[in-house]
Amino acid sequence: MMTQELFREDAYAKECVARVVAIKENAVLLDRTIFYPLGGGQPGDTGELESQDARIWKVIDTRKDPDGEGILHILDSSEGLKEDMELTLRIDWERRYTHMRMHTCLHLLCSLIEAPVTGGNISTDKGRLDFYLDYSPDKEDLESRINALVVAGHPVSYRWITDEELDAQPDLVRTLSVQPPRGAGQVRLVNVDRVDLQPCGGTHVKNTAEIGPVVIGKIENKGKGNRRINLALASV
Ligand SMILES: [Zn+2]
Repeated sequence: MMTQELFREDAYAKECVARVVAIKENAVLLDRTIFYPLGGGQPGDTGELESQDARIWKVIDTRKDPDGEGILHILDSSEGLKEDMELTLRIDWERRYTHMRMHTCLHLLCSLIEAPVTGGNISTDKGRLDFYLDYSPDKEDLESRINALVVAGHPVSYRWITDEELDAQPDLVRTLSVQPPRGAGQVRLVNVDRVDLQPCGGTHVKNTAEIGPVVIGKIENKGKGNRRINLALASV
């Protein structure tokens, strides 16, 4: 049975109750979760699980199960956990919220560069995108344009389309290195109102104003047709 992915419906859920489905060494599969698994350049969530008798297990990382059975919550130790146990899940919200702000910020960056994305990564305080691009954009110009999009407060919303609808609109796919999150014939589109529309399985803020001031870092020349644009959130 697959894990129900509550973070897709509500990225702001900080706590929920779930049941243990299986224990795999130091990792646990649950019937539902608010923990985002590493993917699309966004790190896996950390946090804790608490039993009804107030025992705590630390979640040090979250990954997709390589056997395809759902989402693995990686623990420092699974000792004492049992199948069918009911647990309260809590994510490290400050860390996750920073990832949401940074992730949404990368959508803004993507919208400002007319070139395919070849890679990307998010850490807690920094982010980067690699573009298939043969010139380096002007750093100050880019910084003022991205901050204008933040300040304008564009709402972020979601809609689902079928795999066939996506195949009919290949222009929607901006990222060459990450395949859109397909599943059960449906793909989730993330719409930053009037700015960016693309398939994405990550977690985002509800409004670009939540990102706060953005600082463009180094623009690196990584060889022919490859520019790496680094950025950081001014308030983390
Ligand atoms: Zn995204």
